[in-house]
Amino acid sequence: MEITDILTIRPQDTVFHALRQLDHNGQGILLMLDADSRLIQTVTDGDIRRMLLAGHSTDSTLSNLPVASPLTVSRPYRADKVLALMNKFLINQVPVLDEQGRPVELLHRQELDSQIQILLSTPHLSSFEKEFVDEAFRTNWVAPIGPNVDAFEQEIANYVGAKGAAAVSSGTAAIHLSLILAGVQPGDVVFCSTLTFVASANPILYLGAKPVFIDSEPDSWNMSPSALRTALAAAARKNALPRAVVVVNLYGQSADYDPICAACAEYGVAVVEDAAESLGATYKGKASGTIGKLGIFSFNGNKIITTSGGGMIVADDLELLQRARFLATQARDPAPYYQHSVIGFNYRMSNVLAGIGRGQLRVIEERVASRQAVFRRYVEQLRDVPGLTWMPDAPFGRNTHWLSTGLIDPSVCHLGTAELITQLAAQKIEARRIWKPLHLQPLFAGCDYYTHDGGESVSDRLFNTGICLPSGSNMSPEQQDRAIEVLRNALLAPSARASVGTRT
Ligand SMILES: *Cc1c(COP(=O)(O)O)cnc(C)c1O
Repeated sequence: MEITDILTIRPQDTVFHALRQLDHNGQGILLMLDADSRLIQTVTDGDIRRMLLAGHSTDSTLSNLPVASPLTVSRPYRADKVLALMNKFLINQVPVLDEQGRPVELLHRQELDSQIQILLSTPHLSSFEKEFVDEAFRTNWVAPIGPNVDAFEQEIANYVGAKGAAAVSSGTAAIHLSLILAGVQPGDVVFCSTLTFVASANPILYLGAKPVFIDSEPDSWNMSPSALRTALAAAARKNALPRAVVVVNLYGQSADYDPICAACAEYGVAVVEDAAESLGATYKGKASGTIGKLGIFSFNGNKIITTSGGGMIVADDLELLQRARFLATQARDPAPYYQHSVIGFNYRMSNVLAGIGRGQLRVIEERVASRQAVFRRYVEQLRDVPGLTWMPDAPFGRNTHWLSTGLIDPSVCHLGTAELITQLAAQKIEARRIWKPLHLQPLFAGCDYYTHDGGESVSDRLFNTGICLPSGSNMSPEQQDRAIEVLRNALLAPSARASVGTRT
């Protein structure tokens, strides 16, 4: 915070004055200045209390305080270094001095804490959103309908090369409607990738259908075509073919659709592409989300672009999309009064939020480039760390690296994913485990599961050893350098400890 009069005192001031200043500023600290406004020392409420207990009165002057040289820093300072200093000396504030020794700023622990925080993936606004949102306000289109909604649908469709798009309130809503459009009924079976966020499969339960989970293959971490084939053959034998397969494109990378679509076509099963994490990715030249019968995107706050919350269905079948909009607006029949024949939902996107989406979509290519650059920096700068490997870039398309994810080999590294995440969190760096596979979730206990090549579960291994690192397109190179430094120290800690050991 800035230095103002209520933060400062002079040696000739009384204890009473100091108490009043402390009461005023509420900081628990005062800066004692000399005649040239240079810092003499810091004075805490504890110092004043001890003066009074030592027999001084409130009329005594502060010149009676014991002399103590203050802990200070100068500009430029590094927030993490100042915090380390605070921790070492058990203090919560540090004054910043200019070249003359005058305080110019008082640093607080809380402020520094939030400065050094590096989060996994946060919204990254451009200069374009506000214009579209202002327009919505100016024209009173503050409703789940309006010109931004129509334009955002068209712009997403154009961007991915689909014939159309329907904007909805979330990616989850988009999956729910897509499954209805694929004809899923209560009691039906729906296949789903196991290594994904729960939102991929929750809509299966909304519909009273039964999920069956399919393992990952090691080359893209996405649905294993061989496991899918085995599951389809088994389902055909039981006369329980799925109504649809939800294929997830994980962390910015497409699944291998040629063999997946071939298998599904053979059995006449619809593919719903959960591209919530892969807007901007491609598969053999086609945009992620446009390969299945229906594709969905999410604009949740952590995704590559955001509307704060929102989703989109894309398809080439415009009638299906019209049906999606109908179902998303309470399925109102074309009658001169409120008449309804099927179950509907309140799932449309707000015109205000669609405005945010339009602004975000203008910079999608920059966001992809930034996320890819973040991933490349991790790979290059941590090349020498043994036991650390990365999510592979499958040869069939563009991986946006929405999240930078890697694996920690437990036979090489001295610490596991949980401990690494705790160590990073202690330095205010947010990392997370990769998705816990859905076949391991209590929610889906008892559901069938098919492993890759019929062998050991690939997704279990990925879950046990995988971690997601800070990946935001708005993360500065300096922030990432610090994340890399902390990661390196954590992963290489035993040898560091050994060298300290030899010195002592
Ligand atoms: C984020 C996400 C969703 C859900 O999107 P929301 O907009 O948060 O409802 C679905 N599937 C996957 C794979 C996701 O990552």
